[in-house]
Amino acid sequence: MSPSPTRVLVLNSGSSSVKYQLLDMRDSSRLAVGLVERIGEQTSRLRHTCLDSGDTREALGPIADHEAALKAVAEELTRDGLGLDSPELAAIGHRVVHGGMFFTEPTVIDDAVLAEIERLIPVAPLHNPANLTGIRTAQALRPDLPQVAVFDTAFHTTMPESAARYAIDPKFADRYRIRRYGFHGTSHAYVSRATARLLGRTPEEVNVIVLHLGNGASASAVRGGRCVDTSMGLTPLEGLVMGTRSGDLDPAVIFHLARVGGMSMDEIDTLLNKRSGLFGLCGDNDMREIRRRIDEGDEAARLAFDIYIHRLKKYIGAYCAVLGRVDAVAFTAGVGENAAPVREAAVAGLEGLGLAVDPELNAVRADEPRLISPAGTRVAVAVVPTDEELEIATQTYALVGTGSAPVGNNS
Ligand code: AMP
Repeated sequence: MSPSPTRVLVLNSGSSSVKYQLLDMRDSSRLAVGLVERIGEQTSRLRHTCLDSGDTREALGPIADHEAALKAVAEELTRDGLGLDSPELAAIGHRVVHGGMFFTEPTVIDDAVLAEIERLIPVAPLHNPANLTGIRTAQALRPDLPQVAVFDTAFHTTMPESAARYAIDPKFADRYRIRRYGFHGTSHAYVSRATARLLGRTPEEVNVIVLHLGNGASASAVRGGRCVDTSMGLTPLEGLVMGTRSGDLDPAVIFHLARVGGMSMDEIDTLLNKRSGLFGLCGDNDMREIRRRIDEGDEAARLAFDIYIHRLKKYIGAYCAVLGRVDAVAFTAGVGENAAPVREAAVAGLEGLGLAVDPELNAVRADEPRLISPAGTRVAVAVVPTDEELEIATQTYALVGTGSAPVGNNS
């Protein structure tokens, strides 16, 4: 009898990109990683790295669609002896952004699951279609292999109704499925658990505020391993100030832009999702560039930074109140892991909430989870690198790893 397959391919299909990683779940090691960008354009790019040989290959030139992109990825993997036809491949794990209220767990994909992901397109018009295309293409390449959907929203389905509902007439909320779903759930799940580990405790024992600060950004309040509140809502627009999204604003701003500014709904959507946040405020959405400009005395960059920090502080305070007792605040993602000035400013003045940052520890750069609060403070402040691909692979493998899960078993 051949040994059980132990490899998982993780696919994260965006509207014009596919990110992928091939992992061996015996030791969670990465075998290959890569990215296809600008799918559908003349200037598509595929960058592939084989971790064993250390080789990185780059291919430039038009890649018409997701099918062509995945075929190109499959060819690269084959060149490294890691092809999709390998009997060692146990499953493909797909990041799916919106699982609504229906999907509370990773789920083996069958026709009913595909139909439900499709039904959720109206609440995730940018993301779910791309995720679906990725799944269908992967299914066509390996129809015999279990494909698992891991949902960004799943970790947040434990939120109580008091946190998940907007204060609007339930008639409308229910008819149009309007509620707070939350996103980045895979990262919040991974980081809250890794933070508990860092404290030498189990997830059930600790209350954690996770601050996922990347180009998109969200906060969550996690009590005993279960999410009880998160800052993103019906869509990823709500909450913190982000790279290009406004986060929270008075909904009447939208009426005002339409009535007084004469803007169409699509124009307002683009303004708030793509041309707001740090980028809208100062023309840059990269925190490195903003810090550089601040050091040169740039006023717009300073104000953008201050607005970003003010909002972050408000959420830290709010989630201290939601949780009652907080054991740790964990910073993660591109900004959270790398921008010491953001961590310092976000926690400055919060000694009354038991929060402080040690400047020397905060300045350390490392890939490992680490504490940055002074010894003896009531609440641990930590930097915990996120690893969404590993979390997707782990959840996928947990579901199908024995090799016994039939395709279409989504119970
Ligand atoms: P992510 O979405 O998690 O990949 O985060 C991307 C963002 O992280 C970028 O837009 C930058 O703002 C930020 N970032 C990445 N590296 C650094 C760094 N060394 N210092 C400050 N910000 C960084």
